[in-house]
Parts: sequence; structure tokens; C-alpha cells
Amino acid sequence: MAIKKLSELPVDNRRVFLRVDFNVPMDAEHTITDDARIQAALPTIKHLLEREAKLVIASHLGRPKGRRKADLSLEPVGARLAQLLDTEIIFPEDCVGDGPHKLAAALRDGQVMLLENLRFDAGETKNDDGFAKQLASLADVYVNDAFGTMHRAHASTTGVPRIIKDKGYGLLVEKEIESLGKLLDRPMRPFVAISGGAKVSDKIGILTNLLGKVDRMIIGGAMAYAFLAAKGVSLGLSRFSEDDVEAAGRMMKKAAKRDVEIVLPVDHIAALDLSPGGDWIEAGNDDFPDDRMGVDIGPETRELFHRKLLDAGSVLWNGPMGVFEIPPYDQGTEAIAKALVRSPAYTVVGGGDSAAAVRKAGVSAFMNHVSTGGGAALEYLKGNELPGLKALDG
Ligand code: AMP
Repeated sequence: MAIKKLSELPVDNRRVFLRVDFNVPMDAEHTITDDARIQAALPTIKHLLEREAKLVIASHLGRPKGRRKADLSLEPVGARLAQLLDTEIIFPEDCVGDGPHKLAAALRDGQVMLLENLRFDAGETKNDDGFAKQLASLADVYVNDAFGTMHRAHASTTGVPRIIKDKGYGLLVEKEIESLGKLLDRPMRPFVAISGGAKVSDKIGILTNLLGKVDRMIIGGAMAYAFLAAKGVSLGLSRFSEDDVEAAGRMMKKAAKRDVEIVLPVDHIAALDLSPGGDWIEAGNDDFPDDRMGVDIGPETRELFHRKLLDAGSVLWNGPMGVFEIPPYDQGTEAIAKALVRSPAYTVVGGGDSAAAVRKAGVSAFMNHVSTGGGAALEYLKGNELPGLKALDG
């Protein structure tokens, strides 16, 4: 692929459409609770401003499903961006139509406009041609720096770059591709994947694919229960489905054929329910009570996983080891984050919850790369061409 980098694009004094991922978490008062995604886009924004571009920034926020929803407005994001850049941000009420069109035409060199939530228009996720044309009419150059949405074929990720000739990716996407590429091309061995979280059905395809690349797979979180159940371990009320158990069983057979070691939990934190401050005990695979559910990996498992990381040459981590949103069920996830700090391996953390967990443990700086896109990172590692990346080619 001959995709252009930011430094190769003719952006000086030109109108640039910059797709970013400003899908930040907010509390009930619309206050941003974690601005990491805004921070991650700053290098590209600053680069463009240094080159006196006229900036039209676009993002989605949440899932408004084609309707305007006040609580999913990007206005608080605009305010935060204005603070971070110490500049005025022009914020139209829409992402397309007369308002944004006139404002885009009037932009001066080095001025910044942030469009309203792209997903307020149903055309965004439908990848509607008309909507893409309207967005494309706002600028002369297209830059995509929204790695987290590159696995989706939406109007702003694939439709617009099909229309605009001068296009390429931003500094964040460049870093993502370089860092993930190191794992894809010639990973230092042993290559160990750590997988957790809850969505087994979503991830099993990706994990099966990773079997061809990794030497060892450590599995925690609710995902592990399906694997343990497939081995006949009974885990009370723990969360998993019969379909997941079948898929996990198939995956373990494939792993055995490929000589990939699968490491599963040997003990758990077993709670009566998910209420904060609820009652919990430690329980092994052999003595798990029928009336409890697994909510985190237990202390022996934390030790075991740590040992299995000691000799790793490369590590890819995606998904928490327990219900990390509810302390103290965040301890297993935190133990992995800390074990990775001590590991000399090339460490990549997949986005979303694992990235949040690494930040919460205060160890992001010790990782080689913390990806901003969980789904996109896994798709890329699967060897699949990301639609948003493909659209930048040619
Ligand atoms: P995912 O989006 O698949 O990475 O899943 C992340 C979610 O998995 C988080 O919200 C966790 O609370 C949840 N999770 C992790 N471990 C467990 C568990 N043992 N039981 C229930 N949910 C879990």
C-alpha cells in the first residue's frame, strides 16, 4: 500500500478534514471523565496548525443512531480542546448543511472548527454517498487519525476519502500501525497473548486467528469460564453461554494441534453478586460454590500468569481479568498491569478497557504501546485490511 503520511500531504494553508476519535467517556453532567483520546489527537492537530491548515475536525460520540441527542453533543469536547490548544474552536450546530459549509469556507489559516457528532446523521454509519459528499465538500485534503474506527466502513472513514484525492493518515494512526506491525511481522518470541473481558463470541474468531501467531495464550476474565467449563470445571453462577463453551472447546483443540500453550485460571474471586462492597471469597477450580459467580482471577492465578509472562519476548494484552469497574474486583487486572511493567517484553495493550486499566494502574508509560482502538487493533493483527486504511490508498 502506498498510503501517504501526514508529512507527505499538501496541507499547508489548505482546508483539511481531520477525522479523529473523540468518543470520550462522560458522566451524567456531561463532564469528560477521561480525555486520553483528545490528548492522543493533539500531535496531529498541532502539526496541522503549525502548517497553517484550516482545520475541520470531525468525530462521533456514542451511539445516537441517527438522531440528535443533547447528551451526546460534542460541545464539551470542543471546550476541552479549546483549553488544551489555547485557541478558539468554532462549533456549528451540525456536521453538514449550510452552517458548517459557510463556516468552513470562511475559515482562516490556523483556525479550527469542530463539527457536531457525525452520528447525529444516519448517513454516517450507513456510509451514505450523499452524506459523504456533503462532508467532503467542507475540505480539500483528508486526514484520518481515528484509529479506533478504522475497522468500520462509515461515511467519514471510507466515503469521504473516496471523494477527496489528497489523503493520508495522521501521526496517531502512523504510530499504531508501526507498533502493531512489529507484532505482526517479526515478533520477539515467545509471543504471549493475554485475553480477558466478557464478549467471548466477539473475540473467539480473533483469538483463533491469533493461534497462528502466538506461542502462548493466557485467558482470564469471564472469557476464561467458557474454557474452564469446556474442560468440565463447574463455576457456579459465573457468566458464560453454552455457545461460548463449544467455541472454547474447538479453540483448545486447535491450540493443541498448533502447539500453542493455553493458560487458564486455577482460582477465582467468587462473589454472591456484582454489588459494590459485596461479599466475596477466594475459590479454586475444584471447590467453586454453586451459589457464587466468578468476578476476578484469584491470587494463585495472578502468580501463575505473572510467571507465564516472565520469559515473554512480546506481549499483546486485550480485555480485563475481572469486573475491574467494581473494586476490589480490579485487583487481578491491576496485577497483570504491574507484571507487564517488570517484563522486558515488547508490550502492546489493546484499547478500551485494558487501556483504561493500564492508565488506572498508572503504568501506561511502561508499555511500548497502548493502542487507542481495541477492535481495530485486533482486526489489524488478524491480518485483515482495515476499511478506513484501504480507503486511503491511491
Ligand atoms: P470486553 O468488552 O469483552 O473486553 O469486556 C469487558 C467487560 O468484561 C468489562 O466490563 C468487565 O466488567 C467484564 N468482565 C470481566 N470479567 C468478568 C467476569 N468475571 N464476570 C463478568 N464480567 C466480567
